[in-house]
Amino acid sequence: MPVLVTTRAGGVSAPPFGGPDTATGLDAAGRPDVVGGLNLGDHVGDDADAVAANRARLAARLGVPVRYMRQVHGRQVALVREPGPPPEADALVTDVPGLALAVMVADCAPVLFEAPTAVGVAHAGRVGMAEGVIGATVEALTDLGARPDQLEVTIGPCVCAGCYEVPAPLRAEVERLVPGSAAHTRQGSAAIDLRAGILGQLTRMGVTRVAVSARCPAEDFSLYSYRRDGRTGRFAGLAWLPS
Ligand SMILES: [Zn+2]
Repeated sequence: MPVLVTTRAGGVSAPPFGGPDTATGLDAAGRPDVVGGLNLGDHVGDDADAVAANRARLAARLGVPVRYMRQVHGRQVALVREPGPPPEADALVTDVPGLALAVMVADCAPVLFEAPTAVGVAHAGRVGMAEGVIGATVEALTDLGARPDQLEVTIGPCVCAGCYEVPAPLRAEVERLVPGSAAHTRQGSAAIDLRAGILGQLTRMGVTRVAVSARCPAEDFSLYSYRRDGRTGRFAGLAWLPS
C-alpha cells in the first residue's frame, strides 16, 4: 500500500516552475529554480507540454496510471475506478489496485490514506480542512470497507504554523470549526496549524495511525510554495493499491 510525495526535482519545467540544479544547487537569487522542475499542476500557467511530460514521467516511474482532480477547496470526494479526466473534487478514493490517486499542493496539506483494500488522497488547506474534507474522505473509505481503525494516514508536507500567519478573527473562526488548529507564528502573531487541526479531526474519527511530515514548503526549497513564491508549481502526494 504505497504512498509517495514528489518534490520539485526530476521534471522538465522551466522557471518559475523549475527544479533544483544538481550541479550548482542554487540560482543567482539563492533559489533552486532552473529548468528541470517536476511541476504537476496544469492550472498554474506552466507550459502544457512540460506538465504533460512531467506527469508522464511520474506515471512511468510509478508503473501505474495517475488520476488527478480539479481541486476547489471543498469537501467533495470522488470515487474513481479507472483512468480518466479529473473530476471536480478535493479528495479521491479507490478500491482498484494499480491506479494511483494524486493530490496537488504547494502549502496546503496532502493527506494520504492507506488501508488493505482501499486508498485515498485529500487536499486540505485552511478552507478544505474547515469544510470537512478529511471527515468526508474517511467516510468514503468506510463505504469502501476500510474502517477508521484500519487506516494509516500520512499528513504530507504543508505550511507549518510558524509560517502560516492569518488575521486573528480568521484564526478564531477556524478554531471554532476545527478545534486545536489555533496557533502562533514564530513572531507570535495569529496562525493556523494545519497539521494539528487535521490530526485532531482524524483522531476524533477513530483514526489513530497517523504520520505527520515535519517538512514545510515555505522553508524548504525542494518543494513548491505558493506563500513563498506566488507564481509557482505544484508537487503531489500519491496513494495507490499495488496491482
Ligand atoms: Zn514553516
